[in-house]
Amino acid sequence: MENVDICIRGNGIVGSTLALLLSRLNLRVALIGNFQAAKLPDIRAYAINAKSKSILESIHAWPTEPSCTEVQQIRVSSDEGELIEFAHELMGSNAAAPLSWIVEVDALEAELAKALKLSSVQCVPYSASLESSSESSSKRSPSRANSSLSHLSTVPAPLTVICEGSSTRVLGKENLNTYINTHTKRTPYHQFALATHVTFKNPDQKHWGIAHQWFNSFNNAPAASVPPESQKEFEILALLPIGGSSGNTFAVVWSTSEKRNHELALLSDAELTQALAQSSKNVFPDLVAVSARQSWPLALSSAAAWCGRSSAKESWVLCGDSAHSVHPLSGMGLNLGLGDAYALYELLHTREKEHLTWRPLSELRLLRSYERQRKLAILPYVQFIDKIQLLFASGYPIAKLIRNQGFKAFNALGGLKEWTIKKAMQANF
Ligand SMILES: Cc1cc2nc3c(=O)[nH]c(=O)nc-3n(C[C@H](O)[C@H](O)[C@H](O)COP(=O)(O)OP(=O)(O)OC[C@H]3O[C@@H](n4cnc5c(N)ncnc54)[C@H](O)[C@@H]3O)c2cc1C
Repeated sequence: MENVDICIRGNGIVGSTLALLLSRLNLRVALIGNFQAAKLPDIRAYAINAKSKSILESIHAWPTEPSCTEVQQIRVSSDEGELIEFAHELMGSNAAAPLSWIVEVDALEAELAKALKLSSVQCVPYSASLESSSESSSKRSPSRANSSLSHLSTVPAPLTVICEGSSTRVLGKENLNTYINTHTKRTPYHQFALATHVTFKNPDQKHWGIAHQWFNSFNNAPAASVPPESQKEFEILALLPIGGSSGNTFAVVWSTSEKRNHELALLSDAELTQALAQSSKNVFPDLVAVSARQSWPLALSSAAAWCGRSSAKESWVLCGDSAHSVHPLSGMGLNLGLGDAYALYELLHTREKEHLTWRPLSELRLLRSYERQRKLAILPYVQFIDKIQLLFASGYPIAKLIRNQGFKAFNALGGLKEWTIKKAMQANF
C-alpha cells in the first residue's frame, strides 16, 4: 500500500464513484471502506437526475430495469390540495426523456462493487465497528459540531478525500491519522424519514412511472403553553415508482416528526395501509407493505472548510454528505454529491491533460478552486430545499397562505415550471 496518490475514505456511492472516475487518470487510488458482502440491506430508492445518470454510465455502474425505473410524471400536492404536475412536455426539445430515474440503492451499490473489482482501485477494508448510528436529531437550533475529526485507517497519500457521509462528524476522535480542521454546522430538521416498499393490493394495477409527493400538515392537540408552530404536525410523503416501467411497487419516503416516525414504524401492515390512504388523501387506499421499514434522522449540514492541509506534504478534501447534507424532500443529496465527485475528477483530469502534473496533488490552490466551485454550485439548491422545508413546517397562518398561493402561482407559470424541472435535471455542475 505504498505510493498511493489519492486515498478516498468511505466507499458509499460518492466515494466509489470518485474512485472509479479517478482510476481512469494516471493516478494510484486507494479506497478505504466496508467491503463485506454481509452488509445490511438498504431499502431506499433514490431519484437520480440526467447528469448523475451520465456519470454512473461512464463508469459502467448504471443499473438496468427492474432496479431502475423511469419517472414519466411527478405530482406534488400541497396541504390545501393544490396540485403541481411535472410531465414530459416541460422538457421542450428533449420531450421524450424521462424526468428522472428511481434507482434502488442496493442495486446501484452492487454495480459499483462490480466495477471496482474490474478496476485498478486498491480496496482497503476499515473497521466498520467505529461507525456510529447515534445521529439522533434534537432541536432545530443550529448546533456546531467541532470536527477535528478523523479515525482509523488511512493510507498515506498526498491527497485524502473524505467521503464518509454525514456520520463523519460523530466518529471517534482518537487515532488521528489525518487531522481535519473544519467545523460542520448541523441543523436537525426535527424529522425522521421512514423508508419502506409498498405494492397495490390488486396485482393488475401499475404505477405508470408516476412519482407522488404530499406536503401535509395537521393539528396536534392544542396546548396553551406550546407556540403555534409546534402545535402543527408536518409531514412529507413521497411514493417513488420502482420495479421497472411495468412495475406496481412504490418506494416510500415518509418524513415526519420523531414521535410519528416511531408510531409509523410500529403500525401493523393493515394500519400502515390505512395511514397511507389518509396521508395520500385517499389517492392510494389499498397499498400493501412488502418490506421492512427503516428510518433516518434528517438534518441540514455544511462544513465550513472543504479542504486543508493535514501535514506539510498532505492535504484533505471533502466530498458528498461529508461536506453537505440536505432534506430528502427533493431527492437531491446524492445528485449534489456526485456533482462534487465529478468536479474533483474534472479538475485532476485538466491537471493531467494540460501537463500540470508537476503541481502536487496536495496543492491548496487546486483544492480551493474545487471548494469555491462546488459551494457556489450547490448553494441555490441547499437554500431552496431548506426554505421549502421551513415554509411547510411552519404552523403560522401566513406561511400556510404563502405556500398554497405559491403552489397556485407556480402552476400557472408554465415557464417557471419548465425552468425548475430543467434545473433539477442539470443539478450537478
Ligand atoms: C431517506 C433518504 C432518502 C434519500 N433520497 C435521496 C434521493 O432520492 N436522491 C438523492 O440524490 N439523494 C437522496 N438522499 C441523500 C443520499 O442518501 C445521500 O446524499 C448520499 O447517500 C450521500 O452519499 P455519500 O457517499 O456521500 O455518503 P454515505 O452514503 O453516507 O456513504 C458513506 C460511506 O462511508 C463509510 N465510512 C464512514 N466512515 C468511514 C471511515 N472512517 N473509513 C472508511 N469508510 C467510512 C460508510 O460505511 C459509508 O459506506 C436520501 C437520504 C435519505 C436519508
